[in-house]
Amino acid sequence: MIITKSKKLEDVLDSLKGAKKVLITGCAECSTVSRTGGENEVKAMADTLTANGFEVVGTMVCEIGCNKNNVKKELKQFKDTPYDAVLVMSCGDGVQTMAGNVDVPVYPASDTMFLGEVERVTLFSQACKMCGDCVLGRTAGVCPITKCAKSLVNGPCGGAKNGKCETNPDVDCAWILIYNRLKKFGQLDKLEVSNDDKGHKINLYPATINLKEEKANE
Ligand code: SF4
Ligand code: SF4
Repeated sequence: MIITKSKKLEDVLDSLKGAKKVLITGCAECSTVSRTGGENEVKAMADTLTANGFEVVGTMVCEIGCNKNNVKKELKQFKDTPYDAVLVMSCGDGVQTMAGNVDVPVYPASDTMFLGEVERVTLFSQACKMCGDCVLGRTAGVCPITKCAKSLVNGPCGGAKNGKCETNPDVDCAWILIYNRLKKFGQLDKLEVSNDDKGHKINLYPATINLKEEKANE
C-alpha cells in the first residue's frame, strides 16, 4: 500500500492561489486507508475550500486513482462542468494520472511517503523501497534495504546493542531479525551467499513494466 500524509492546509491553499473553480478528487484505495483522500477527507476539504472563497465545482473519490482509463471514465461526469484546477488527494501517482487526463493544472493535497504495511488502523510501517531486485527469499522475508538503517545487504554493521539498531534504539536490528528467522527455518546457509550491492544502477527512471511484451519475449 502507498502511504500518504496530508500536506499542511496553508500549503494546499497557497498552491491553489489563482484558481477559482476547483474539482477535488480522492482515491478509494490507499489514500482512503491512509485517511488522506477518502470520502470523509474529500468532503472536509470541499468545506474548507468553500470557506476559503473557492468554488468547489465537484468532488469525486476515484475507484483506483492510479488507473488512467478508470479515471478518464470517472471524469466524464464533469465533462460539462468548467473548472480551472484539480486538487488531488492521493499519492503522487494519482496526481500524475489525473494530470494525464485533464487540461488544467493539478495540485497534490498529500505527500507520498512510502510503500508499507498497515500494522493496524492508522499505523503504517515502511516495508519496501522498490529496489527492483527482491532478496527477501534469502533474508527470511525481512527487507534489508528498508528495515536496515544502512540498507546493508550482506550482514550487519556490528553496531547493534541488545538487538536494537545503533541508529535508533527503538528499532530492531534488521540483520539480527534476519539471522534469527533464518536460524528458525534451518536456512542459515543462505547467509553464505553474497548479495549484489544495490547501488542505484538497477533504478532507471522513468520505469515501465509491460506484462504483454514480457510474455511475448519469454
Ligand atoms: S529487497 Fe526490499 S526493497 Fe527490494 S523489492 Fe524486496 S522488499 Fe522491496
Ligand atoms: S545495527 Fe543493524 S539495522 Fe542498524 S544499521 Fe547496523 S545492521 Fe543495519
